[in-house]
Amino acid sequence: MSVYWSDGIEAIEPYVPGEQPRDQKYVKLNTNENPYPPSPKVLEAIRGEVGASLRLYPDPSGEVLRAAIAERYAVPKDRIFLGNGSDEILAFAFAAFLGHQEPLLHPDISYSFYPVYAKFFGLNVRTIAVRPDFSLPIEDFLVPNGGVVIANPNAPTGEFLPLASIRPLLDYNLAARRVVILDEAYIDFGGESAIPLVAEYPNLLVVHTLSKSSSLAGLRVGFAIGQEELIAGLERVKSSVNSYTVDRLALAGATASFQDEAYYREIRKKVMATRAWATAELEGLGFTVLPSSANFVFISHRTVRAETIYMELKSRGVLVRFFRKPRIDNHLRVSIGTDDEMHILIGKLKEILG
Ligand code: PMP
Repeated sequence: MSVYWSDGIEAIEPYVPGEQPRDQKYVKLNTNENPYPPSPKVLEAIRGEVGASLRLYPDPSGEVLRAAIAERYAVPKDRIFLGNGSDEILAFAFAAFLGHQEPLLHPDISYSFYPVYAKFFGLNVRTIAVRPDFSLPIEDFLVPNGGVVIANPNAPTGEFLPLASIRPLLDYNLAARRVVILDEAYIDFGGESAIPLVAEYPNLLVVHTLSKSSSLAGLRVGFAIGQEELIAGLERVKSSVNSYTVDRLALAGATASFQDEAYYREIRKKVMATRAWATAELEGLGFTVLPSSANFVFISHRTVRAETIYMELKSRGVLVRFFRKPRIDNHLRVSIGTDDEMHILIGKLKEILG
């Protein structure tokens, strides 16, 4: 609390990102970064942009990047919105679409930024409890609401909800004239994107990030796909905050990432293959591993507490994510690293579990 703060600032509850310690070199399996580097073409494009042109502002609407995304997903360019990471787009979307008298709905176990945005923008919220097996009871969302936000695959569970299960929610909210935001941050690791449904549903906004499957967490680029009315809503918020959210280097690198699909297909395949064997190994060590369609697994040990394992791993140089939160405080979220990193993890777990 500071005398200098605006009224209300002490009441917000900021998001706490996964730790990025610098005291030693860790095997970092705690923030769902991609263990493989970006495509060489991306690095070349960024290098090519380093020069005198940095004197100039970037294209505020990112025409070239939007054209690349439009081509990849076969959607019109004017249905695409760019952001400085998908976190920014989510923030804009909460502000643009979810402020109504009825509460916005999100699962109780989900991306922990959602309640932060809701509180920051002063929105009414109602969380919908996931089932004991962490699956999403979509029927519980079919109630009057001020909008819905769901991560699919969900985080931190990794569960993917098939599009057939999402349709009833889109239909319900179409009739109720409310927006459904699908946060598909992890969609490229085994899920099926709802982007094709945007053509049918003017109330659907699909949000993607280049941080995970495109190995560009450090570049900060995300995009959303929705019909024109939703894009216009996002533009209004953006243009009330910051006109140049995506910088020149990010525009160049992100555009190039859409020009090397072969490379990215390969590294996504590797992450999924590693996830499969690591899951089997973890199960062999007495962990319950939720089926995951993401680049992480959500695990719980049958006898040893998650917090103990988290601390023991950290002291051995391996970072995983532990959430001190109701319902999930005996689970760990483990990002899928390279095969070598996962071998180290399994080795350390064997030490810890005796
Ligand atoms: N959505 C989900 C579900 C996430 O886990 C993350 C990563 N923390 C994001 C969105 C944000 O990703 P970024 O801002 O890097 O695009």
